[in-house]
Amino acid sequence: LFAQECDFLWAASSASQLPPPGAPEIAFAGRSNVGKSSLLNALTNRKTLARTSHTPGRTRELNFFGLGGDVDTARLRLVDMPGYGYAAASKQKIASWTDLMRDFLRGRASLLRVFVLVDGRHGLKPVDAEMMDLLDRSAMSYQIVLTKRDEVKAAELDKRVEETLKAIEKRPAAFPQVIFTSSQSFAGIPDLRAGIARLMAE
Ligand code: GDP
Repeated sequence: LFAQECDFLWAASSASQLPPPGAPEIAFAGRSNVGKSSLLNALTNRKTLARTSHTPGRTRELNFFGLGGDVDTARLRLVDMPGYGYAAASKQKIASWTDLMRDFLRGRASLLRVFVLVDGRHGLKPVDAEMMDLLDRSAMSYQIVLTKRDEVKAAELDKRVEETLKAIEKRPAAFPQVIFTSSQSFAGIPDLRAGIARLMAE
Protein backbone atom coordinates (compact mmCIF):
# COMPACT_ATOMS: atom_id res chain seq x y z
CA LEU A 1 0.00 0.00 0.00
CA PHE A 2 2.63 2.52 1.03
CA ALA A 3 4.71 1.74 -2.04
CA GLN A 4 2.03 3.44 -4.11
CA GLU A 5 2.04 7.02 -5.26
CA CYS A 6 0.64 9.42 -2.74
CA ASP A 7 -0.68 12.74 -3.95
CA PHE A 8 -2.49 15.76 -2.61
CA LEU A 9 -6.26 15.43 -3.15
CA TRP A 10 -8.21 18.14 -1.41
CA ALA A 11 -8.12 20.91 1.19
CA ALA A 12 -11.01 21.97 3.39
CA SER A 13 -11.20 24.90 5.76
CA SER A 14 -14.87 24.45 6.57
CA ALA A 15 -17.30 21.55 6.88
CA SER A 16 -19.02 22.49 3.61
CA GLN A 17 -15.72 22.01 1.78
CA LEU A 18 -15.08 18.44 2.92
CA PRO A 19 -14.58 15.98 0.06
CA PRO A 20 -17.35 13.46 -0.48
CA PRO A 21 -16.69 10.33 1.56
CA GLY A 22 -15.05 7.62 -0.49
CA ALA A 23 -11.96 5.61 0.32
CA PRO A 24 -11.21 4.78 3.96
CA GLU A 25 -9.55 7.65 5.78
CA ILE A 26 -6.86 7.82 8.46
CA ALA A 27 -6.25 11.19 10.07
CA PHE A 28 -3.23 12.65 11.86
CA ALA A 29 -3.52 15.24 14.61
CA GLY A 30 -1.04 16.81 16.99
CA ARG A 31 0.40 19.96 18.47
CA SER A 32 2.24 22.28 16.12
CA ASN A 33 5.83 21.14 15.78
CA VAL A 34 5.14 17.61 17.03
CA GLY A 35 6.61 16.23 13.80
CA LYS A 36 3.39 15.55 11.87
CA SER A 37 4.63 16.69 8.47
CA SER A 38 7.82 14.69 8.92
CA LEU A 39 5.86 11.60 9.93
CA LEU A 40 3.51 11.85 6.93
CA ASN A 41 6.51 12.19 4.66
CA ALA A 42 8.23 9.16 6.25
CA LEU A 43 5.05 7.13 6.04
CA THR A 44 4.59 7.82 2.35
CA ASN A 45 8.29 7.81 1.35
CA ARG A 46 8.07 11.38 0.22
CA LYS A 47 10.24 14.34 0.95
CA THR A 48 7.63 16.99 0.44
CA LEU A 49 4.16 15.48 0.69
CA ALA A 50 3.32 17.53 3.71
CA ARG A 51 5.22 20.75 3.94
CA THR A 52 7.37 20.87 7.05
CA SER A 53 5.97 23.85 8.82
CA HIS A 54 8.16 26.83 9.48
CA THR A 55 5.27 28.91 10.73
CA PRO A 56 3.61 26.80 13.41
CA GLY A 57 -0.12 27.19 13.62
CA ARG A 58 -0.42 28.67 10.17
CA THR A 59 -2.24 25.83 8.44
CA ARG A 60 -5.93 25.96 9.29
CA GLU A 61 -7.04 23.36 6.82
CA LEU A 62 -7.68 19.69 6.63
CA ASN A 63 -5.45 18.39 3.85
CA PHE A 64 -6.37 15.12 2.19
CA PHE A 65 -3.80 12.93 0.43
CA GLY A 66 -4.62 9.89 -1.67
CA LEU A 67 -2.67 6.65 -1.89
CA GLY A 68 -2.92 4.88 -5.22
CA GLY A 69 -5.37 7.16 -6.97
CA ASP A 70 -7.32 10.40 -7.12
CA VAL A 71 -10.24 11.58 -5.03
CA ASP A 72 -12.50 8.92 -6.61
CA THR A 73 -10.07 6.04 -7.00
CA ALA A 74 -7.57 6.24 -4.10
CA ARG A 75 -7.40 3.14 -1.90
CA LEU A 76 -6.73 5.15 1.20
CA ARG A 77 -6.87 8.80 2.17
CA LEU A 78 -4.51 10.31 4.69
CA VAL A 79 -5.87 13.40 6.39
CA ASP A 80 -3.48 15.97 7.79
CA MET A 81 -5.35 17.83 10.53
CA PRO A 82 -4.20 21.34 11.38
CA GLY A 83 -1.78 21.48 14.30
CA TYR A 84 -3.14 22.73 17.60
CA GLY A 85 -1.76 24.26 20.76
CA TYR A 86 -0.07 27.18 19.07
CA ALA A 87 0.40 29.70 21.87
CA ALA A 88 -0.23 32.78 19.76
CA ALA A 89 -3.51 31.55 18.25
CA SER A 90 -6.46 33.87 18.91
CA LYS A 91 -9.62 32.71 20.66
CA GLN A 92 -11.50 33.12 17.41
CA LYS A 93 -9.01 30.94 15.53
CA ILE A 94 -9.20 28.25 18.19
CA ALA A 95 -13.00 28.33 18.02
CA SER A 96 -13.06 27.95 14.24
CA TRP A 97 -10.49 25.16 14.47
CA THR A 98 -12.63 23.34 17.04
CA ASP A 99 -15.75 23.73 14.88
CA LEU A 100 -13.97 22.30 11.85
CA MET A 101 -12.61 19.36 13.85
CA ARG A 102 -15.97 18.62 15.40
CA ASP A 103 -17.76 18.76 12.05
CA PHE A 104 -15.18 16.50 10.49
CA LEU A 105 -15.19 13.95 13.31
CA ARG A 106 -18.93 13.77 13.66
CA GLY A 107 -20.32 10.76 11.89
CA ARG A 108 -17.67 10.44 9.22
CA ALA A 109 -18.08 6.76 8.57
CA SER A 110 -15.12 6.59 6.20
CA LEU A 111 -12.74 7.79 8.94
CA LEU A 112 -11.22 4.66 10.47
CA ARG A 113 -8.93 6.17 13.08
CA VAL A 114 -7.20 9.35 14.16
CA PHE A 115 -3.56 9.05 15.11
CA VAL A 116 -2.79 11.63 17.78
CA LEU A 117 0.87 12.53 17.62
CA VAL A 118 2.61 13.38 20.87
CA ASP A 119 6.19 14.56 21.21
CA GLY A 120 8.07 11.59 22.67
CA ARG A 121 10.48 13.89 24.50
CA HIS A 122 7.73 15.55 26.51
CA GLY A 123 4.75 13.22 26.65
CA LEU A 124 1.09 14.28 26.81
CA LYS A 125 0.24 17.93 27.44
CA PRO A 126 -3.09 19.51 28.47
CA VAL A 127 -3.88 20.46 24.84
CA ASP A 128 -3.48 16.80 23.86
CA ALA A 129 -5.97 15.90 26.58
CA GLU A 130 -8.38 18.44 25.06
CA MET A 131 -7.96 16.80 21.68
CA MET A 132 -8.65 13.41 23.24
CA ASP A 133 -11.73 14.84 25.00
CA LEU A 134 -13.06 15.91 21.61
CA LEU A 135 -12.32 12.49 20.12
CA ASP A 136 -13.93 10.68 23.05
CA ARG A 137 -17.02 12.87 22.77
CA SER A 138 -17.16 12.16 19.04
CA ALA A 139 -16.74 8.42 19.73
CA MET A 140 -13.95 8.52 17.17
CA SER A 141 -11.34 5.79 17.56
CA TYR A 142 -7.84 7.19 18.08
CA GLN A 143 -4.36 5.98 18.87
CA ILE A 144 -1.35 7.79 20.31
CA VAL A 145 1.82 7.92 18.24
CA LEU A 146 4.87 9.18 20.10
CA THR A 147 7.32 11.02 17.83
CA LYS A 148 11.06 11.87 17.77
CA ARG A 149 12.09 8.56 19.25
CA ASP A 150 15.69 9.18 18.17
CA GLU A 151 15.80 12.14 20.58
CA VAL A 152 14.76 10.09 23.61
CA LYS A 153 17.28 8.23 25.77
CA ALA A 154 16.94 4.46 25.67
CA ALA A 155 16.26 4.38 29.42
CA GLU A 156 13.33 6.77 29.00
CA LEU A 157 11.55 4.99 26.17
CA ASP A 158 9.59 2.46 28.24
CA LYS A 159 8.75 5.06 30.85
CA ARG A 160 7.27 7.38 28.24
CA VAL A 161 5.16 4.57 26.79
CA GLU A 162 3.94 3.48 30.23
CA GLU A 163 3.01 7.03 31.27
CA THR A 164 1.06 7.42 28.05
CA LEU A 165 -0.78 4.11 28.41
CA LYS A 166 -1.67 5.05 31.97
CA ALA A 167 -3.04 8.43 30.85
CA ILE A 168 -5.36 6.89 28.24
CA GLU A 169 -6.45 3.93 30.35
CA LYS A 170 -9.91 5.30 31.13
CA ARG A 171 -10.53 7.01 27.83
CA PRO A 172 -13.31 5.23 25.97
CA ALA A 173 -12.25 5.84 22.37
CA ALA A 174 -8.49 5.41 22.87
CA PHE A 175 -6.86 2.35 21.35
CA PRO A 176 -4.77 0.82 24.15
CA GLN A 177 -1.48 0.63 22.27
CA VAL A 178 1.16 3.24 21.61
CA ILE A 179 3.57 3.39 18.68
CA PHE A 180 6.91 5.14 19.20
CA THR A 181 8.22 6.52 15.92
CA SER A 182 11.10 8.45 14.50
CA SER A 183 10.90 10.10 11.11
CA GLN A 184 14.66 10.26 11.12
CA SER A 185 15.58 6.63 11.91
CA PHE A 186 12.23 5.31 10.62
CA ALA A 187 11.79 3.40 13.88
CA GLY A 188 8.14 2.48 14.37
CA ILE A 189 7.14 3.47 10.83
CA PRO A 190 6.64 -0.18 9.75
CA ASP A 191 4.43 -0.72 12.83
CA LEU A 192 2.35 2.31 11.95
CA ARG A 193 1.97 1.08 8.36
CA ALA A 194 1.01 -2.38 9.57
CA GLY A 195 -1.55 -0.87 11.96
CA ILE A 196 -3.12 1.09 9.11
CA ALA A 197 -3.18 -1.97 6.85
CA ARG A 198 -4.94 -3.94 9.61
CA LEU A 199 -7.56 -1.24 10.03
CA MET A 200 -8.27 -1.32 6.30
CA ALA A 201 -8.66 -5.08 6.37
CA GLU A 202 -11.15 -5.06 9.26
P1 GDP B 1 4.68 19.65 12.40
O1 GDP B 1 4.58 21.10 12.75
O2 GDP B 1 3.97 18.81 13.39
O3 GDP B 1 4.30 19.33 10.98
O4 GDP B 1 6.20 19.24 12.63
P2 GDP B 1 7.40 19.08 11.59
O5 GDP B 1 7.31 17.79 10.86
O6 GDP B 1 7.48 20.33 10.79
O7 GDP B 1 8.63 18.95 12.60
C1 GDP B 1 8.91 19.92 13.58
C2 GDP B 1 10.39 19.88 13.91
O8 GDP B 1 10.71 18.62 14.52
C3 GDP B 1 11.29 19.99 12.69
O9 GDP B 1 12.42 20.74 13.05
C4 GDP B 1 11.66 18.55 12.38
O10 GDP B 1 12.90 18.43 11.74
C5 GDP B 1 11.70 17.94 13.76
N1 GDP B 1 11.36 16.50 13.72
C6 GDP B 1 10.24 15.95 13.22
N2 GDP B 1 10.26 14.61 13.36
C7 GDP B 1 11.43 14.29 13.95
C8 GDP B 1 12.04 13.06 14.38
O11 GDP B 1 11.52 11.95 14.23
N3 GDP B 1 13.26 13.16 14.98
C9 GDP B 1 13.88 14.34 15.19
N4 GDP B 1 15.07 14.33 15.78
N5 GDP B 1 13.34 15.51 14.80
C10 GDP B 1 12.14 15.50 14.20
